[in-house]
Amino acid sequence: MLTDVETHALSCLDETALVGDLVELVRIPSITGTDAESELQHRQAAQLAGFGMDVDSWKLDLAELTADPRFPGTEAERVEGYGVVATSGAGHPALVLQGHVDVVPLGDVARWGDGAPFGGRITGDVVHGRGACDMKAGVAVNTAVARTLAASGLRLERPFAVHSVVSEEDGGLGAFATLVRGHGGDAAVITEPTSGQVVTAHAGSLTFTLRVPGLAAHGSTRTAGVSAFEAYLPVHRAIVELERERNADPDPLFAGNPLPYPISVGRISAGDWASSVPDRLVAEGRLGVQLGEDPAHAREAFTAAVAAAVRADPWLSDHPVGVVWSGGQFASGATPDDDPLIGQVAAAVADSGGRPPVGRLAVPYGSDLRLYTGIGGIPTLLYGPGDVRMAHAPREQVSITETLEAARALVLMAVRRCGAHR
Ligand SMILES: [Zn+2]
Repeated sequence: MLTDVETHALSCLDETALVGDLVELVRIPSITGTDAESELQHRQAAQLAGFGMDVDSWKLDLAELTADPRFPGTEAERVEGYGVVATSGAGHPALVLQGHVDVVPLGDVARWGDGAPFGGRITGDVVHGRGACDMKAGVAVNTAVARTLAASGLRLERPFAVHSVVSEEDGGLGAFATLVRGHGGDAAVITEPTSGQVVTAHAGSLTFTLRVPGLAAHGSTRTAGVSAFEAYLPVHRAIVELERERNADPDPLFAGNPLPYPISVGRISAGDWASSVPDRLVAEGRLGVQLGEDPAHAREAFTAAVAAAVRADPWLSDHPVGVVWSGGQFASGATPDDDPLIGQVAAAVADSGGRPPVGRLAVPYGSDLRLYTGIGGIPTLLYGPGDVRMAHAPREQVSITETLEAARALVLMAVRRCGAHR
């Protein structure tokens, strides 16, 4: 059942403005670490200020942030970044809606077909483009909630806040900076693509680089050398075995996902000449961190597995493999099972006419959630429009129906958490 105030608030949601905003967001090619990422943050700050919100927009002190022992790691080359926090009034926010404005690169452009990746094309119920799903639909939803509350003329007992962050895709620098600056609230919803499900926990992900030495020789006399590629093979087998062990008994929250903690090697390079025996191999990948596991423990398990493979190999035992934790370092994160936020989001979805979420879920990918629950100490959920299988993929897209559904649910959440009156 909805109260008069809730019905009024929902009637103020401008669906056309929301979809138009999403299209405009997709048209800004805010690949993580680029100038367009900053451009988009400036746009966010101006737009949210236009709704009468107090906006804190600041340039990130990259030197200070990266020197902090809690710094979550980064991968993109970044010369600048901005934080944007908009608050509807004075006081500690009762609800924070958070979204990241950065997107991942396009991959093989040929696989995007005819659709321009940053065109913001609409066909039927779908908005196309890089970032449409991850997570400009969510960012547009957060903005739409701010726009709706401003248009409603309702008075809030407690403020609500919108956090717009950079650098989620390469480690979480933007969320980290926002929390270190002291922004927070009683509860947070990050509108990442969850297909309208409520996600309360996620695995972590630690980026590693392995360096495997070989011995160069002419390819015609290859037995005079040692191929770094072949030297890597037993190390890779040890990694595959470790992955199997670490996924033997996954948490039921993963809803039957047989591999919530993958160890995936994403980039391998070896040698520099076709007819030479390669004298070095570099393998970069990601190691999944289990729910509740200290990342240091995951790193130890990985280095121990590599070390065991090295000891068992005659060449490697004299020429050890280097292991460096080189990029984004995402711990796992979780909001406690009994936090009222979980039921409140589910109720808001159902009461605003959406499909009720199936229950609590955990996902295998890292997100800013772990920084909000960890550093911020803020109960935080992921809930938002879009199918995560579309994220980072060619021909990325998002459903307009799902986007509107999430906006309605979060307008209701904001009204209820913040206490709205005429
Ligand atoms: Zn995302």
